[in-house]
Amino acid sequence: MATQGEAAHRPDGEVVELCRELIRIDTSNYGDEDGPGERLAAERVAGWLDEVGIESTLLESEPGRTSLVARWGDGPGDPLLVHGHLDVVPAAADDWQLPPFAGEIHDGQLWGRGTVDMKDFDAMVLSVIRSRVRAGLPPNRPVVLCFTADEEAGGRKGAEFLVREHPDLIADCTAAIGEVGGFSTSVRGQRFYLIEAAEKGMAWIRLKASGRAGHGSMINQDNAVTRLAGAVARIGSHDWPVRLTPSMEVLLASVAELAGTTATPDNAEALVEEFGPASRMLGAVLRNTVNPTMFNAGYKVNVIPGRRRRTSTAASSPATRTSSSQHSRNCAATTCRSRPRPTSSHGARPSAATRSMPSPSHC
Ligand SMILES: [Zn+2]
Repeated sequence: MATQGEAAHRPDGEVVELCRELIRIDTSNYGDEDGPGERLAAERVAGWLDEVGIESTLLESEPGRTSLVARWGDGPGDPLLVHGHLDVVPAAADDWQLPPFAGEIHDGQLWGRGTVDMKDFDAMVLSVIRSRVRAGLPPNRPVVLCFTADEEAGGRKGAEFLVREHPDLIADCTAAIGEVGGFSTSVRGQRFYLIEAAEKGMAWIRLKASGRAGHGSMINQDNAVTRLAGAVARIGSHDWPVRLTPSMEVLLASVAELAGTTATPDNAEALVEEFGPASRMLGAVLRNTVNPTMFNAGYKVNVIPGRRRRTSTAASSPATRTSSSQHSRNCAATTCRSRPRPTSSHGARPSAATRSMPSPSHC
């Protein structure tokens, strides 16, 4: 029989409203000095925790780049870290059916940037905790809450800052619950509970091309922009071969069993399609992927630039961190210089186990 406290406990009671409010605080992270930062969102979270008697500490790596740490409960046992990030990737309103920072509800669904990554999780955590405190249900071990800045640009100004400058706040935590890690999906009516085995590696590549400067009205066979565009197009349109990692082999073998077949590289894509909407993510770990993401060239419409034009490319690999970026450099090699940028797995969402792979062939 439920106790009085348990009867009053409604863990999901506020989750929609809290999520809507967080969505309405634009915390777009552009990965540079632009953007509103996370301070307003962190202050709002601190206010919600303060309402139920939980004190927060706000910490800033830079003005406006704010993370929050709080501690709830003083029971025995090692503290559990529960963490989520407050920033979101930018959203261009023109690309959206509904305003990305309005938190509108249509057809029973909440719309907005951050609804799935990850203001939803932040709101769930806050709703559960506020409900438990009000119902008099403390945790049976201390819980350290951490809402961080800058996850979408690698975490340097958020999680990394906390670990580097304030390790004492989280040092005694022995386990953590955070973003992703696994989700459930269905194949032919059978429930699958996917478990993250590894993360896809990523490398940023910056290409530069040089050529002969001149006026845009003249003949120019040595145009740096043309050269750079060609290299980017070759990289972006390259057809990467399927390469199955050990964890994908295990996953596809399970799907193949349901489908009455055997998994091979030849039917890997068809088997991944069995996952429906999740196939877009899972398909990205069947092969290396490379995507041009930014392109800058020139400084005036009627002038052909001579040099220092650049573009950025995200090369990510489920197999090795270097193979796809090396391949991208090969694609660009005939006409452009490429420079790898610091490698990080941050932001490389699809997960797969790692193993070495053969050297890529040239484009
Ligand atoms: Zn996220």
